[in-house]
Amino acid sequence: MNKNVLIVGTGLGGLSTGLRLAKRGYHVEFVEKNNQAGGRLNQLKKDGFTFDIGPSFFSMPYEFEELMKDCNTDMPFEFVELDPLYTVNFRGSDRKFSLYKDIDKLSEQFVDIEPDFKNKFKAYLKKCEQLYNDTVDIAIKQNFDSIPAYVKALMGVNPVHLPVLLKNFWKQVNCYFESKEARQIISLIAFFLGRTPFDTNAIYTLLSHIEFSHTGYYNVKGGMYAIVTGLVKELEKSGAVFHYNTEITDYTANNGKLTGLTDQNGKKWEADIFVINADAALFRGIVFKRKKYSPAKLAKMDWTMGYLTFYVGLDTKIEQIEHHNYFLGNNYEEYAKDVMKNPGTLEKPYYYVNAVSKSNPDCAPEGCESLFFVCPVPNLQFKKEWSDKEEIIRSIIDDFSDRIKQDISKHIISLSAYTPEEWQNRFNLYSGAGLGLSHAMLQIGAFRPKNYDEEFFNTFYVGASTIPGAGLPMAVISSKLVVERICRYQFN
Ligand SMILES: Cc1cc2nc3c(=O)[nH]c(=O)nc-3n(C[C@H](O)[C@H](O)[C@H](O)COP(=O)(O)OP(=O)(O)OC[C@H]3O[C@@H](n4cnc5c(N)ncnc54)[C@H](O)[C@@H]3O)c2cc1C
Repeated sequence: MNKNVLIVGTGLGGLSTGLRLAKRGYHVEFVEKNNQAGGRLNQLKKDGFTFDIGPSFFSMPYEFEELMKDCNTDMPFEFVELDPLYTVNFRGSDRKFSLYKDIDKLSEQFVDIEPDFKNKFKAYLKKCEQLYNDTVDIAIKQNFDSIPAYVKALMGVNPVHLPVLLKNFWKQVNCYFESKEARQIISLIAFFLGRTPFDTNAIYTLLSHIEFSHTGYYNVKGGMYAIVTGLVKELEKSGAVFHYNTEITDYTANNGKLTGLTDQNGKKWEADIFVINADAALFRGIVFKRKKYSPAKLAKMDWTMGYLTFYVGLDTKIEQIEHHNYFLGNNYEEYAKDVMKNPGTLEKPYYYVNAVSKSNPDCAPEGCESLFFVCPVPNLQFKKEWSDKEEIIRSIIDDFSDRIKQDISKHIISLSAYTPEEWQNRFNLYSGAGLGLSHAMLQIGAFRPKNYDEEFFNTFYVGASTIPGAGLPMAVISSKLVVERICRYQFN
């Protein structure tokens, strides 16, 4: 008889796990707190505009290819390589850096700034590649049954990398480059992990290899949400069933086995196997009421920054920007050291702008542009009050208008915003931390909340908050790892 699986949450981790299991003959049902699938990989449609609300690009597309191969399914969406990867603008300068993967095109932009940039960059990337090759299979693509097994696997990593482990991202980049522009641009990727180059271990410079020489970044034709619609369609074809507006708040268990989950209306959901795609630490704490994840213990864990995101529909086109654009200030070190905790940084915020309608014209009415702004901010642990959000948004819009030399404020015909409060309340993210638990060394691998439950043998976890970590390709890898565990599991 086919086994019934209940998946709590329809983030990318939940959807990819569901597809892998459905294709293996399991009967899959989803319960999701929101009224549509996707989790943080979601979409907002408003006033004739379509916005991706969170992720706007991804790396390692082969993880999606592996997922489809594993499910014997054609890729249900089409991805498009980004070139340039993105642009970087500094406050007070008209110069725009376009980050090309082509090393000659990239180096041309540093000719008068960083002597011998090309050779320095090659040397830096060579080290990043070695770090990637020597750690990816050990630290990212494996299930670990215990901390000693994990530590033993880490001991297999080439010891030549040890000095890197003792540095932060910023220090490692500084070993190769002298100019502030090169240092800042190359260390920017640490922000993609939800922390800063100053509190991210140098091992993560392996991301520069992924960014510039391994796969680069990709968008999806029609917008990022096409990933979700494609997966949901495949799941429905395989018989999976979705229940929206259903939030799990309680449970019943017997003899080390989870027997049911209860939603906000008191309805009980039963299954043979449960997969939790909600945050693996928070769910253990709030729903399973585990001591290890009590409110006091959760507060002591290391969480990523929050995001103030806002979605702007304009009745005009903007020619001056590319698809992905970073707007930095001129106090990078001071800013980065403060941004996680000090709301004062919002007086002169750094931000990212995504113009989704540039490559997906259907996302805006004709002659219009849909823009998505992301501003790194302290999460709710460090800034509880967001009544000043309109003021902050206005200052970013003014700064952006100044820098592109076009006043967009009079062209705004649609505006929506999510502060960390909305991110917390919509998706159950702890303190609105955008990427959830950080990748501090004691929160990765076997130290991260496990992808199997400590008490209920029929309960598993998938997604950014368990192994391997945050980001879309990691959510897909996470589904592979958890399915490996579920298939190993013997039913009682
Ligand atoms: C602003 C922003 C920008 C980002 N940009 C990028 C990017 O460009 N590229 C990239 O690779 N990554 C990016 N990320 C990270 C990426 O979005 C996440 O790592 C990934 O989407 C996480 O997927 P997931 O499956 O782990 O969980 P989630 O997407 O968080 O899904 C979990 C689901 O569980 C549901 N849920 C929670 N609790 C319950 C409950 N009790 N009952 C029922 N349902 C519940 C939630 O509503 C949600 O739908 C970004 C994140 C943010 C916030």
